[in-house]
Amino acid sequence: MFHSLETQSLNWINMNQTQKHTLKKNYPTLKKLADLSGNSIVELIMVFMDYKPASAEPIYYDKQLRDNLPQIQKLANKLGIYFSTSTHKYIINSPRGIFTEIPLNDSRLGKIILSFSKSAEIAYKGAYYYHQKMLDSSYGYKFGELMGYPKCCLKFGDYLANNNSNPNNYGFKNPAIESLKRSEHFDWHLNVFTTSLIPHFPCSLTCKDSIEYVKKALECLECIKELDTDTKKQYLSEPVSLYWTCADRILLYGDYKASSLGYGEISYTKLEPKVTSSSFYQKVDKNNLCLLNEIYKHLEQGNRLVVTNHYCRIYRDNVPLFQLKKRDRYTPILIKPDILPVP
Ligand SMILES: [Zn+2]
Repeated sequence: MFHSLETQSLNWINMNQTQKHTLKKNYPTLKKLADLSGNSIVELIMVFMDYKPASAEPIYYDKQLRDNLPQIQKLANKLGIYFSTSTHKYIINSPRGIFTEIPLNDSRLGKIILSFSKSAEIAYKGAYYYHQKMLDSSYGYKFGELMGYPKCCLKFGDYLANNNSNPNNYGFKNPAIESLKRSEHFDWHLNVFTTSLIPHFPCSLTCKDSIEYVKKALECLECIKELDTDTKKQYLSEPVSLYWTCADRILLYGDYKASSLGYGEISYTKLEPKVTSSSFYQKVDKNNLCLLNEIYKHLEQGNRLVVTNHYCRIYRDNVPLFQLKKRDRYTPILIKPDILPVP
């Protein structure tokens, strides 16, 4: 059954005038830092505003980033933020692998971890723990704690963490699907199936602390008029996502009827492919990518999609065009929040 619940409206004001003024004044520097470092502007703002203690992201260590490092250091200093990098590069493999560690001077392209915090020690640990959590499951919890993730989500993240002796580890699990499995409802703030504003995967799709975090992020974005908050909110609440992984999904717009969370049908009028695994990962499953492209082509010809536990079916009006038998009930799913913003 499709539940149509409503949350309280977003008239949630937490920032005072001084904070707003500080954010507006420093936004150009934050934006420049985000552009040069490849790090998320939202994450950098949240660190700058003291809403989280640190952020850390893997970024391609190419000539451009190398050339930008001194300027990144300068901009971070100007904002009172410390900056640290990992001592190795990483080749990030497909969802069926973890990280391959290579030396910084290896000629192969790899990513380095860039970590930012107002504490020098935390910035250093951010880059170090990010690496360690790929090797040792106990660092998953430590890393999340360092980044200020909600306590409830830390336990969940720990469950997702890599464990070398277990083939069913982080690299094999699909975090957003694990969040879904633990949810009865789905609040739009936590739309990890479209473009998420939270850096972690929530312990459930109605996790209160994670929702509070997104409200703060949206409030910051609203304060800076340069960023289009309405578009962000639209992405979180409007599209239906045909979802495989965080790297591969197709957004559909239209009339959606859910049969349960993750399954249902949509008569659609617009599609937006977000199939990015070939750039997100350095080694991808080519067959899987071909299949995704094939599905997208059929979707372009059709106007209705039905996703059940067992299959995906694409129709043009009532004529079936294509059917995919699913290998498991979660690959892929069709999902939209059932707790939506008050109009
Ligand atoms: Zn939580």
